[in-house]
Amino acid sequence: MTTVISDVVDRHGCELLDADDPLASLRERFVLDESVIYMDGNSLGALPRATPPRLLHLISEEWGRGLIRSWTDAGWMEASERVGGKIARLIGAEPDEVLVADTTSVNLFKLVTAVLRARPDRRVLLTERDNFPTDLYVSAGVASSFADHEFRTVARESLEAAIDDEVALLTLTHVDYRTGEVHDMAALTEAAHRAGALVLWDLSHSAGALPLDVNACSADLAVGCGYKYLNGGPGAPAYLFVARRLQEALRNPIQGWLGHESPFALENEFRPAAGMRGWLVSSPSILAITALEVAVDLALEVDMQRVGEKARRLSELFIRLADSRLASHGFSVASPSDGARRGAQASLRHASGYGVVRALIDRGVIPDFRDPDVCRFGLAPLYTRYVDVWDTIDHIVAVMESGAYQDPGYAVRAFVT
Ligand SMILES: *Cc1c(COP(=O)(O)O)cnc(C)c1O
Repeated sequence: MTTVISDVVDRHGCELLDADDPLASLRERFVLDESVIYMDGNSLGALPRATPPRLLHLISEEWGRGLIRSWTDAGWMEASERVGGKIARLIGAEPDEVLVADTTSVNLFKLVTAVLRARPDRRVLLTERDNFPTDLYVSAGVASSFADHEFRTVARESLEAAIDDEVALLTLTHVDYRTGEVHDMAALTEAAHRAGALVLWDLSHSAGALPLDVNACSADLAVGCGYKYLNGGPGAPAYLFVARRLQEALRNPIQGWLGHESPFALENEFRPAAGMRGWLVSSPSILAITALEVAVDLALEVDMQRVGEKARRLSELFIRLADSRLASHGFSVASPSDGARRGAQASLRHASGYGVVRALIDRGVIPDFRDPDVCRFGLAPLYTRYVDVWDTIDHIVAVMESGAYQDPGYAVRAFVT
């Protein structure tokens, strides 16, 4: 029987939720220090226990002994497509529609440029004003490299109205990084298609945390990052999705040798590879892709519907406890109250939010801070427990009651917040 979150009144209630959690056993598949409460899996996912031995084998055997033969014998050359095909299953794409390559920003550059080049009759690139910074920066940069294109940014609530017949591409991040608010992928994609525009979704804060179905939504393009809820490790490679129906029409603007139809023919003229391999640029980082693959294999063991359900329940618990115990300390909840519109995070606003986050980190509770006043708590469903939410709220209350958040040492911002 599933316990109703609103019935939870104490830590014991959270222990019962954990005992009932069908995903509970996954936690031990990660390296997690029991003296730390990790609330930042939305920025850097935890380390799967299977990753270090796999990398050790890769380094000592495949690289150390196999040397260059391993490009063929150990499947290195296919890794970008193979791991892409696995990520495809997490996002509702076909295996030949996803490739692991480069970083999210670079993949954004490749896809946005490709669309603007393919559609010279439409001069507007549209996005949301508060999109993730790299999405804004890359899009603005690409638009400015075309002679008379406009990079149009509008408020979230004005997006649908701003899609007109000048728009070549609408580019959006599915889950807002500050608040965790989820866009309606199907509805916005349909609105864009009605106006003849294509849509690119950034799934960085979605994949591995929520069920996704890009093809059911008729999404055209997507990118996403490997190091957040996918747990691929710091600086893990990213992925890109190109719907099969667009693969002929769009061309990778970075013509690197590995995107060539026949890289080892070493011809002087570039001929693009067909399919997703054409989106490769360079030799893939095999160490990094291998770490990502271990983590993606782990995510594929579980049903993403269940993962999304747990995300909703963890964040509901967080928000309910914040409403009842933190409002008197000056916090307000920044995440949507409707669970269907919330990613795997809960965000609080507080005028001294930066000091609160620093004081929590000094107590072994690790969230992060985003300007101007947002304390973000990542609730990665694969390894976050309901008791972790309870204990985090307890720590926030303690930080407020002791005044620890006002420590003058927290006045100076660290470079990474
Ligand atoms: C984390 C994140 C990225 C990461 O970009 P990289 O270039 O891979 O570092 C991009 N977009 C969004 C929305 C993100 O949250």
